Formats: sequence, structure tokens, C-alpha cells
Amino acid sequence: MQALDATQALQVRRVSSSADLLHPGEYVFIEKRPPQITIEKKPLANPGFFRRMFHRDYELKQIVELVWPDYDVAILNCPECNTPLATTARRKIISVEPLTLELPLTGLYCKTKSFAIENGRLIRVVYHASLPADSVLPS
Ligand SMILES: [Zn+2]
Repeated sequence: MQALDATQALQVRRVSSSADLLHPGEYVFIEKRPPQITIEKKPLANPGFFRRMFHRDYELKQIVELVWPDYDVAILNCPECNTPLATTARRKIISVEPLTLELPLTGLYCKTKSFAIENGRLIRVVYHASLPADSVLPS
């Protein structure tokens, strides 16, 4: 039997679509999409004389629809519980492949666990709630 390489196990792996997100540490990158702009021609209820004369008896309305995602998103399967985690607009993706995120991700269900991702490698981040040992007041 082959021994598990700890460094290999901490590697994230890019897959081509969100449907391929099956295993912990797999991620997909979804590029931001521009908003969809449509122009609607609406007849005016009471066009004035000149508007009727020049066939301008309508108004143009621009409709801007935001298409998800409107920012670059990386979706990563949580290395702990395999739940997909999406990066937010504030979390900058520094590199897609190998994956590097500006801020650590926190598991949605296992909330106490955070992971920083640098050069495609997962680094567990531990937040300490207690005071550091050297903060004891001198007597
Ligand atoms: Zn999790």
C-alpha cells in the first residue's frame, strides 16, 4: 500500500465545470459576465403634437440586468465537509491556476475552519479565541 503524501493531499485541483465538483479541494473558476442590456420601446400614453408629427410617440427604456456572476468567482469544495464554497466580490482571486486567493475561505458548515489558498495549496488557518500565553499580567 502506498503511503499518503500529506503535501499532495493539500493540493487543490481545477475542474472544468461546477457539475464536476465532486471531491474535497476541487474548484471551478467562473469568469464574470457583463450585464445584459436591452432597449425597450414603449409607446407614450399622451404624445404631444410634435412627437406625433415626427413619429416620436414612444420612449426608449434601457434595462440593465446583472448576470451572475458579475465578478470573478472561484467555487471550491470544502476540504473538510465537501460543501461548495464560493468566493465573494470582496475576495480577490490573485491567480486562477494555480489558485491563489487574497483572503482565506471559511467553511459554510464547518464555520470554525478557514483555509488560505496559495499557489494551488491549501493552508489551514486557525483563529485563536483565547489570549496568547505571554499576555499574563506581571505580578
Ligand atoms: Zn466544510
